[in-house]
Amino acid sequence: MYCIICGNEKTGMKLLSQTVCKDCIDEMRNISVFDERYDFYKNFIRILLGYYISEKHQLNPVN
Ligand SMILES: [Zn+2]
Repeated sequence: MYCIICGNEKTGMKLLSQTVCKDCIDEMRNISVFDERYDFYKNFIRILLGYYISEKHQLNPVN
């Protein structure tokens, strides 16, 4: 499984049905809002959430 953020092959966990490694999860969890990478992660989560919602939508076309 490859981490969708850093691309490294590591043991990861599922975040919005994508694989994210523990290092990236830890960084996201601990990042300061003043860090320049904060916006990167924020946008990344927004994109993942967009995919996640549309995936669910396709699975259940009635809604
Ligand atoms: Zn990673």
